[in-house]
Amino acid sequence: MIEYQLYVDGEFCEASDGNRFTSTNPATGEKWATAPGATEVDVDRAVRAARRALIEGDWPTLTATERGRLLSRLADLVAESAHHLGSVETTDSGKLAAETRAQSAYVADYYRYYAGLADKIQGDTLPIDKPDLHVYTTREPVGVVAAIVPWNAEMFLTATKVGPALAAGNTVVIKASEVAPAPLLEFARVVDKVGFPPGVINLITGFGEPCGRSLTSHPLVDKVAFTGGVDTARNVVANTAHNLAPVTLELGGKSPILVFDDADFDGAVNGAVAGNFGASGQSCVAGSRVFVQSGIYDKFVAEVVHRAESICIGDPLADDTQMGPLATQAQRDRCESVVAESAAQGAIVHTGGCRPIGLDNGWYYRPTVLGCPDQKILSTQVEIFGPVMSVLRFDAEDEAVNMANDTEFGLGAGIFTNDVARVHRVSKAIRSGIVWVNTYRAVSPIAPFGGFGLSGSGREAGVDAIHEFTTTKTIWINTSAEPMVNPFTMR
Ligand code: NAD
Repeated sequence: MIEYQLYVDGEFCEASDGNRFTSTNPATGEKWATAPGATEVDVDRAVRAARRALIEGDWPTLTATERGRLLSRLADLVAESAHHLGSVETTDSGKLAAETRAQSAYVADYYRYYAGLADKIQGDTLPIDKPDLHVYTTREPVGVVAAIVPWNAEMFLTATKVGPALAAGNTVVIKASEVAPAPLLEFARVVDKVGFPPGVINLITGFGEPCGRSLTSHPLVDKVAFTGGVDTARNVVANTAHNLAPVTLELGGKSPILVFDDADFDGAVNGAVAGNFGASGQSCVAGSRVFVQSGIYDKFVAEVVHRAESICIGDPLADDTQMGPLATQAQRDRCESVVAESAAQGAIVHTGGCRPIGLDNGWYYRPTVLGCPDQKILSTQVEIFGPVMSVLRFDAEDEAVNMANDTEFGLGAGIFTNDVARVHRVSKAIRSGIVWVNTYRAVSPIAPFGGFGLSGSGREAGVDAIHEFTTTKTIWINTSAEPMVNPFTMR
């Protein structure tokens, strides 16, 4: 059993009350690691360390270029450790090693991108409408950032917060998910080698209560960057009623994939498979509502069923595995209950809807394809966070767009067609933060990421993310040779 520690103020330590919780390997159901459950005292210590690092010591006096150099070194060390970090993430979350290792390597590119942006954050000189005044703005760090991440892509979702936050000169307290705390505690070991001043990056683990609640409501926290579910987001926003910290929310989705008759058939099938069965469907951008035009509907369903049944399910660390388990037993229970209820409502279970034979120890669930007559079916309405694809038939383009937009979410959308005018028309009409055309699930440090509606607010990645972690300061300078006039002397 591996025993991890918190990372606070540049040191590894236990929780103040010595409390630990256990993490389970979803592929085997066996307990494999323990992590400290941070208390309110630990949270307070981490936030105060971040606050000290923000205003005292070396960090606030570093030039932006020097901050960039530290981020660049972090990128190099993450790249060197990518294989190991990915393996730990797989053991803790059940996500495919092929994906976690590649993603950890790509995470290095996020830090590298923000290393390059650090000394390109600049303000403006304003053509002010008054004489003898020189007015300019600077982009200032917001302050202490609380970064809260879920379990499904911890290394990645940490980079999308920590990269821009540090580039802009903030300090951070990161809270890992209680479901899979190990990857970020391994990441802390990498961070420790970089040479950041103590307190610039702090890493704590624990549950929503007390750890998440006391972090997001802490009076010295200036900004909350949250990724997770909608209900938790509501709690987080309520918590920030105490400190009035601005919040960025990256939440869930019920993203549509629209497949038109004229689409490249294999490409569209690949998009639907990637959007639903990649990461066992545990992806915020899962394209879990697939709208298929009538002319190819039957052929499309037959092919996605064939592809679902060909997926090699098993040990996520093994090279030939294509789909691992779900991260928790609760996640599998949710798949089972939503699919059962959807079937009772009239959905056709074309394939899946059950556990795979012979994989009794972990939390495995077969890739499932549901034929849904309409969007009254439960599986078309709720985020399942599992390998469950709901397929719906449409005839006309505007019918597909209306159905796609008939959701409270708005994170991603896929459009598969070879009609260029339709690409632009439908991209404009869909209400979502990201639209992928003839591709799906692509991300980049350069491209902003975020949602509409219940999928959240604010943007991660790209230059946009810098704006989330900076605030504007306006400087007014009297350039006249005369001193400021007496305000009570009218001229
Ligand atoms: P979750 O909301 O249960 O937990 C997320 C984090 O919030 C965890 O670290 C948890 O401990 C913490 N938390 C819980 N209660 C809290 C509180 N009161 N105050 C502060 N923090 C608290 O989410 P999950 O089940 O871990 O992850 C799955 C969800 O995340 C899905 O809805 C998924 O769509 C979403 N997600 C979104 C994105 C995105 O970028 N849009 C990416 C990945 C996952």
